[in-house]
Amino acid sequence: MLNHIIRPNILAQTAYQIANIPNDFIKLDAMEVPYQFPTELQNQLASQLATAPINRYPNPATSGLQNELRQAFNIPEHAQIALGNGSDELIQFLTLLVAKPNATLLALEPSFVMYRHNAELFGLNYVSVPLNPDFTLNLAATLAAIAEHQPAIIFIAYPNNPTGVPFRRKDVQAIINAATGIVVIDEAYGAFSSDSFLPQAGQPENLLIMRTMSKIGFAGLRLGYAAGHANLINELAKILPPYNMNWLSLTAAKFALQHKSWIDQHIAILTAERARLSHEISQLPNTTVFPSQANFITIRIAEAEKVFNKLKENKILIKKLHGSHPLLDNCLRITIGAPEQNNLLINILKKP
Ligand SMILES: *Cc1c(COP(=O)(O)O)cnc(C)c1O
Repeated sequence: MLNHIIRPNILAQTAYQIANIPNDFIKLDAMEVPYQFPTELQNQLASQLATAPINRYPNPATSGLQNELRQAFNIPEHAQIALGNGSDELIQFLTLLVAKPNATLLALEPSFVMYRHNAELFGLNYVSVPLNPDFTLNLAATLAAIAEHQPAIIFIAYPNNPTGVPFRRKDVQAIINAATGIVVIDEAYGAFSSDSFLPQAGQPENLLIMRTMSKIGFAGLRLGYAAGHANLINELAKILPPYNMNWLSLTAAKFALQHKSWIDQHIAILTAERARLSHEISQLPNTTVFPSQANFITIRIAEAEKVFNKLKENKILIKKLHGSHPLLDNCLRITIGAPEQNNLLINILKKP
């Protein structure tokens, strides 16, 4: 009977699959950071969580988190900050914000699947611009699509997921300049990149820079944020659920940012490992490693499906991109792990 009630475009979908794997697996599929706080910091965090006022509704403004974010990431003073229960939630409400009849959402492909998903969810026209075969941005095609479709919102992942390949800053700037709608620069991997638009947050009015705590070690907290012009953040604030954040993650995120040197130390390790892993894998026969500015690398390898299964048999889970988009033929995405995890991965890949 539900079939009569549920929206047909939702009935036609399948739920996002979260990998359930045994504890002894090495999990290199979801850009999680392999490090947890040392015991001493865990204990300090525990005592802060124990006294968090969970009898009260959460109030981000009094939590101090926004100021902590400003300081940690040099967010310009004139930019306002919106918080989301993960940046996934911000993507959802930004899409809802512009979901007028016949509005268009534009994204590059392949890119983060949630852009398309939310366009579908809120009934926007979805326009995608294919990347070049080397996963660089096709500026001419993107500008032509903007001119033709006048998108109400454009999402650019910078660096891009699932490819990791950096786009040229001036190309992204050209898109911002050409857009008449909202432009969201999704910097989920900004911490691993040599470039960022965050210092530009606040101007122009239609630009939003979105980031997340997830890819710098705190995926379990569900804490995303977006910095932009007050006018845009104020509109977004009207539709975000008033208590979308919770005291436990607000408290933990603030604590984490007060230990930013611990975070940065691990970002440095993972960035160095990215270079090492890229080099090692590029030595394998019939393999292309695409240049990455994120905490994962995307590779094209002969018989990708077999390679994926071989790793899985050896208790290493990566992401099979093969089959998800024509440009991702025989591609795999590998999250950068801790050095010893990466060694295991390399050894298995090298075995005939
Ligand atoms: C992982 C990811 C997100 C989602 O991050 P959450 O804050 O965990 O919801 C958003 N955008 C891109 C490009 C991502 O890869």
